Amino acid sequence: MKAKFQAIKGMNDFLPEHTAAWQKLEGLLRSLMKQYGYHEIRMPIVEKTSLFKRSIGEVTDIVEKEMYTWTDLNEDSLTLRPEGTASCVRAGIEHGLLYNQQQKLWYMGPMFRREKPQKGRYRQFHQLGVEAFGYEGPDVDVEQILLTHRLWQAIGIEDNVVLHINSLGDSDCRAKYRELLIEFFKENEDQLDEDSLRRLESNPMRILDSKNSAMRSLIEQAPKLNEHLDEASQVHFELLKQRLEAAGIRFIVNPCLVRGLDYYNRTVFEWMTDKLGAQGTICAGGRYDGLTEQLGGQATPACGFAMGIERIVALLEGSDFFADLDDEPHIYLIHLGEKAELKATVLAEKLRTQLPNLRLMVNHGGGNFKKQFKKADRSGALLALILGDDEVDKGIANVKFLREKREQVEVQQSELGDFVANELKL
Ligand code: ATP
Ligand code: MG
Repeated sequence: MKAKFQAIKGMNDFLPEHTAAWQKLEGLLRSLMKQYGYHEIRMPIVEKTSLFKRSIGEVTDIVEKEMYTWTDLNEDSLTLRPEGTASCVRAGIEHGLLYNQQQKLWYMGPMFRREKPQKGRYRQFHQLGVEAFGYEGPDVDVEQILLTHRLWQAIGIEDNVVLHINSLGDSDCRAKYRELLIEFFKENEDQLDEDSLRRLESNPMRILDSKNSAMRSLIEQAPKLNEHLDEASQVHFELLKQRLEAAGIRFIVNPCLVRGLDYYNRTVFEWMTDKLGAQGTICAGGRYDGLTEQLGGQATPACGFAMGIERIVALLEGSDFFADLDDEPHIYLIHLGEKAELKATVLAEKLRTQLPNLRLMVNHGGGNFKKQFKKADRSGALLALILGDDEVDKGIANVKFLREKREQVEVQQSELGDFVANELKL
């Protein structure tokens, strides 16, 4: 027997029973983006490795151990994108979108990280990324939070999520804070795990982002960056909080929130849930005012976030969201005999032309009436149209109601479109 192929661990197939829910969610996200004036940008999924190293940071989990990187035939080092912000900034600079301009951009698609696969954590996963360029004030930070809150409301999960916010200040105050942190962790060196020891000198703030629960209590005692903020960042943070309060958004100021990527400054935020175990962050972002310049563009303030679609779908499992997915046919067309088969094709095309929103499946592959009715029932269709030689001779079709106790009715073929439109409210 030949060995069967299997998908790569942590990289999932999405079967038809799941794609309808994904399409519904993606549709909602697209219209949400329009509501707030964001435009879609699509970037390649492969970039130069150095782009991610320079933006996300050399001493981060992502760059140190999670990237899929290889040397291309021309010796270029290439990487499957682990996130979208770096590519979006690269594209923005490359096409002159960020030079003295304001841009509100979004993208959606697969990201790749070589993590240990588990529920809510995959090696190919999907994100919606939202980025605003050229806006300095906290109003845009707040609007992005409001936009996500609107989504939680629309899909009915607002009671299951909590907003955490923090400020990372500017690079000067972070440099001073870095010294304080190194001093604190050196005093407690015996309690550091291997990763944290390595990061102690190279990137001590990453220690605060450790997922090792044994280090939690030490991290909670560490000096807090928000007690050492520069004046302008403090003002920005105060205005952010005021606006969130005015908008009625509840939040927790979480001084341990630092995010796993190096490019952030000032505002950072995460929407968290306790319904998904350890994979509790469903949406995360913040400001990255220095990144565009760092990647060779004109200095451009920016704020953005990424949402993990798998985790949102997981939160929605079993909810009303999965009812009414518009994926089943309205009509299953049953036909028996050669004349009826010919007529069925013509009639189906006519109906599809007249009613573009009609979902119509024609029986293929033959079978007697009993077999075809079984298939009609399994398809989930509401109505069966029945065409036999008799019906063809009389110029009619029989309509059977598959989900209601109603008498079968005869309808003139020429009036079928109007009849169906009326029945299905199309
Ligand atoms: P985590 O702390 O869970 O590792 P992160 O800080 O690495 O997340 P980001 O890089 O901020 O995550 O990505 C934004 C969002 O993308 C996360 O909040 C999460 O919802 C989702 N996400 C990140 N990594 C994965 C993954 N491996 N599988 C599924 N979703 C993911
Ligand atoms: Mg991570």
